[in-house]
Amino acid sequence: MDNNNSGESNRQMYDNNGKGWTCCDCQGSIDKLPFEPHSDSNLRCFDCHKKFYPVSKDRRMYDNDGKGWTCCECGGNIDKLPFNPRGTDNLRCSDCFNR
Ligand SMILES: [Zn+2]
Ligand SMILES: [Zn+2]
Repeated sequence: MDNNNSGESNRQMYDNNGKGWTCCDCQGSIDKLPFEPHSDSNLRCFDCHKKFYPVSKDRRMYDNDGKGWTCCECGGNIDKLPFNPRGTDNLRCSDCFNR
């Protein structure tokens, strides 16, 4: 058995194969991208991408404070949501959401 593929995170990366990708913010060259860009304008390197789309480590979670959130698929109670829903319809628990 060949076991040379270690890990489930085999995200495909696209190489800058002479395509001359440069970051539109810092003008640095970009070696790899997690997606294949349609054009070489408005690309951002990882650092600037992070600045542009900051990923907050402490993801805010909203508590089901007697709001009676229930999952529209499994009918289970939802304790927390990563966003504050406007209504109680069409909510999904994290299990059903990740399905
Ligand atoms: Zn940059
Ligand atoms: Zn559910």
